[in-house]
Amino acid sequence: MVQKSETIWFDGKLVPWDEANVHVLTHALHYGTSVFEGIRAYEGTNGKSAVFRLQEHMDRLVDSAKIIGLDLKYNSEQLTEATIQTLESNGLKEGYIRPLVFVGAGAMGVHPGANPLHVCIAAWPWGAYLGEEALEKGIRVKCSSFTRHHVNVMMTKAKSGGNYVNSVLAKTEAVADGYDEAVMLDPQGYVAEGTGENLFMVKDDVIYTPPLHNVLGGFTRDSVITLAGDLGYEVREITMGRDMLYIADEVFFTGTAAEITPVREVDRRVIGEGKAGPVAKLLQTEFFRIVKGENPDYALWLHEYEI
Ligand code: PMP
Repeated sequence: MVQKSETIWFDGKLVPWDEANVHVLTHALHYGTSVFEGIRAYEGTNGKSAVFRLQEHMDRLVDSAKIIGLDLKYNSEQLTEATIQTLESNGLKEGYIRPLVFVGAGAMGVHPGANPLHVCIAAWPWGAYLGEEALEKGIRVKCSSFTRHHVNVMMTKAKSGGNYVNSVLAKTEAVADGYDEAVMLDPQGYVAEGTGENLFMVKDDVIYTPPLHNVLGGFTRDSVITLAGDLGYEVREITMGRDMLYIADEVFFTGTAAEITPVREVDRRVIGEGKAGPVAKLLQTEFFRIVKGENPDYALWLHEYEI
């Protein structure tokens, strides 16, 4: 259950949480015509709060709208400002932020036509997506029986609502089969990403991740690549089969919600020593120091705000 906050920014105004509602004939409910973001704000050790890579998330939202062909009237700066307003009005020192752009009610055909485009930004407190224990000990995953999107079937660079039915299918199957998360393979059978995360593996102290051609360009992925490089690791983008995961020393997921989550088992094969590996643990520690404002070298990734 989402922990309710006070207000939601809805088409330019802050409205009470319970009044941010839509009609059942909202186009996006029927056809998945929406784009969204997932962003986190963290309370720093110094008591200051900051949103992690806020501007980039909003740039991606604007890009997602463009890819789907939605005529978004707000620019990235306006949406950034609206996000801070939402956090401030809810007194949230930290939490998860969900901006959503969606085609509203009007005509009911597939063509969105002249239906209104709505924008909302909600924020609420949210802890570890896969659980605190997952961050500590790692999770068990299976390669999904569902294939990840082909680039000319769904638009993989758009974080669009419709894309996530594929994620829901894979996640539901994984959980029903007793796993924590799914690894999704692309139409050629190569490793793509998680249902809401990018994926990394470590072999002989080199870090590998699938290339960006058919996955979402995650900001946690990007941050980890930069951070790992700064820590002296070689990071290579390579096309990998699931068997490379089976024999990896470490596997881990990255994402705004999942943060850096180690994987301890893939398809019943134990990875490394069956617990969070040293590289994932180091990156996790450094990542949390960065988001909590403890490492000034990465201050540019933080958008501070006052509560
Ligand atoms: N891939 C998918 C499919 C996702 O939904 C997400 C979460 N936004 C990611 C990767 C990770 O992206 P980010 O690190 O920007 O949250």
